[in-house]
Amino acid sequence: MTIKISRRDALKLSGAAVGGLTLGGATSAAWNELAPPPGLTQVNTLFKSLKPISPGEPLGKSEMRISFLGTSVIERRAQARSSVFVELGNGESFVFDCGSGVVSNYVAMGIPWSRMNKIFFTHLHGDHTSDLTHIYCFGPQGDRKSPLFIWGPSRSGVFNPDYPANPRKQRYNPDYFKDGTIDFCMHFRAMNRWHTESQSFVATEWDPAEIPSRGVPGWPGVTVPLGDGYDIYATELDWESGDTTNWWCTNQTLVPRGVAGSGQPVPFDTRDWVAYETREVRISFFPSIHGRNGSLGYKLEWLTEGLSMIFTGDTKPNDFLITSATAGSKPVDVLISEIVVNPEIWVARQSGLTNTCDSTFQAGLLNAEAVQENSHTPQKAFGYILSKIAGPDKKMAPRLAVGTHFQATDDTIALAFDDIRYWYAGAVTIAMDLMVLRVTKSMIEQCRAVVSDFSWSAQWDRQRRTANPKYADMSSQNRYRPMAPLAQFDPDLLKHVINPCDYDKYGWQCAGNPPCPPSATGKSR
Ligand SMILES: [Zn+2]
Repeated sequence: MTIKISRRDALKLSGAAVGGLTLGGATSAAWNELAPPPGLTQVNTLFKSLKPISPGEPLGKSEMRISFLGTSVIERRAQARSSVFVELGNGESFVFDCGSGVVSNYVAMGIPWSRMNKIFFTHLHGDHTSDLTHIYCFGPQGDRKSPLFIWGPSRSGVFNPDYPANPRKQRYNPDYFKDGTIDFCMHFRAMNRWHTESQSFVATEWDPAEIPSRGVPGWPGVTVPLGDGYDIYATELDWESGDTTNWWCTNQTLVPRGVAGSGQPVPFDTRDWVAYETREVRISFFPSIHGRNGSLGYKLEWLTEGLSMIFTGDTKPNDFLITSATAGSKPVDVLISEIVVNPEIWVARQSGLTNTCDSTFQAGLLNAEAVQENSHTPQKAFGYILSKIAGPDKKMAPRLAVGTHFQATDDTIALAFDDIRYWYAGAVTIAMDLMVLRVTKSMIEQCRAVVSDFSWSAQWDRQRRTANPKYADMSSQNRYRPMAPLAQFDPDLLKHVINPCDYDKYGWQCAGNPPCPPSATGKSR
């Protein structure tokens, strides 16, 4: 049975328990208070009902796998912020956004650092960018022996209303802020200097074998001059013109695109509104409307398999999305859009207040409405957009639509379905951390990754190279050679180190490791 509940009804209705959360079918729920009974928000029946899958299960050759590794807009333990990981059966992989907390999910999924070297930012809000620090800092210590490639929006061009209101603060009050992705990356490189140098006693140099195998086209067979895993290659995507020629790199051996005939390897092709293109894959972008000028959505097309995915990032409802999703003759396979709970529900959950006439509730409501007006896609708008994309004959309906960036529990999911179903009856689901979609031409299988909460770092995808680290010591007295773990300490500091034999005379630092019998050496797995 379907109970239609309106936004107002959701505040007033009493009675029924949560309805069945069947995919592709209308669902419903109603409760007697704005704040649900304790426990109700603690479950996600939809997610639990999905087919379990083990992390690291090999992809089919023609499979596109989409893993949701951060799905929330707010901070919560059950859902990290924002990240979508796309893997293709040809070995390529792409990260779309990496907000706070998502790296723990990547690690739990067994995704090695080397597969996280191409990152596309929809915008530069912290809930979409903050785990970049972790990916950048720890990747080269693991198996990401390649530059980190980053794509994101150009500068907003929004005039600073403080300028020149306070001449004494003029230095901090430019007329326009340098708020583009290249500005972000330049400062990001500088702010992480202490980290990157301090860890450079292990080898972080590029692995020549690593780069082509990670899908940087134009490079296979080319001897790439070596650089460092802490190199960044940033490409700015102009939200207004679609221009992609603005790039910045910490290593000049990665030549700019457009230098025809230079004889140098070129990492990837771009053109207007296309951020990345190879013979097999195209990633185009389109404007989103969120925060301020600059937000973007992406469309990934696996050209050789005829599969596609759209990720809106954060946005107000807009027709750029409809244009992108209806371009060409085939519907998009998976359309991922942010959605946001209705403002009354947001305030009730956030504040615990149920009296909508309470002045605090009213103030919170105004704030929630302002945030949504600036930034987000209401549930009902998502349904409306999907109906517009599908068209009257439903021919362009995405094979699966996914709402994300959403507090996904039974109560909010049921309300979202009711709003979406008002406009759209096609296949829809709501993302949760560790939801995995296995997409082929013939099926889209929705799975739930079963992972350990106590995972160790992901296995390296490649054997560690024996290259010399930046801080190296080849002297025979150095038992760690070529690594030089003590090279960055002042001798006066080291004088204060406690002798390890004082606390453990049988430990490896004092007695050394027991020798391995020759028969036991070699590879064990
Ligand atoms: Zn945002």
